[in-house]
Amino acid sequence: MRPYVVINAAMSADGKISTRERRQVKISGTQDFTRVDRLKAGCDAVMVGIGTVLADDPSLTVKSEDCRRIRIDRGTDEHPIRVVVDSRARTPPTASVLHKGPGKRVIAVSKLADENRVTELRNHATVIVAGEEEVDLRMLLMNLAELGIQRLMVEGGGTLIAGLISAGLVDEIYTFIGNILIGGKDAPTLVDGPGWVNETDFCRLILIEAHRMDNGILLHWKAGLPE
Ligand code: NAP
Repeated sequence: MRPYVVINAAMSADGKISTRERRQVKISGTQDFTRVDRLKAGCDAVMVGIGTVLADDPSLTVKSEDCRRIRIDRGTDEHPIRVVVDSRARTPPTASVLHKGPGKRVIAVSKLADENRVTELRNHATVIVAGEEEVDLRMLLMNLAELGIQRLMVEGGGTLIAGLISAGLVDEIYTFIGNILIGGKDAPTLVDGPGWVNETDFCRLILIEAHRMDNGILLHWKAGLPE
């Protein structure tokens, strides 16, 4: 069985998750930051796409010392396993996700990935080969389940989220909507990729909770099947 997949992202009031230059923007505040850190601490792994690694250089670590201590007391690693979806093994060997904080890393590549790059990345991470050209996300999730990952948090970006939703691999979505307008038709949104044309293909959501937080609103959705 695949892991339970929870997406978390912050977006502007006009639905953008960063600027048109793919520059990271502070969208939420301290309350949401704490919530996201706790959500992360409660997961076995945190996943991002290579676009996010190249744009933001995230570490994907748990920031709160209390949350890290709770994880250690539970007998788990201090930080969840960090996973990068990266068909062509473009993750820079110096990337923060490979170096900040102790613990395990997984880089998921496809058969297209350059052998030398893969060899270099194997010095820092477990490399999973899944898929011919792009990463086969269903196959990857099955591989992650075999590593003991039952609960997976996905932190973006929009292209990876679109791939997961298209493949029917998403269970829950948290979106914090902040009080800014970023604008720009080319700025990334929560779900990028090609999009869907037929209404029957749209992913239907069930609203679990709407909660005022910081200077915005947190929406918690359950992802349903297309109608
Ligand atoms: P992304 O979603 O992080 O990564 C997408 C890349 O993953 C693809 O281009 C592809 O690159 C790789 N990939 C491999 N297999 C895939 C598959 N089956 N389906 C989908 N992707 C696959 O990149 P992005 O869409 O450019 O998003 C990055 C932007 O999102 C940045 O601007 C960042 O700041 C923003 N962001 C915002 C938040 C937020 O909460 N506000 C969170 C995270 C990111 P290859 O073909 O090279 O493998």
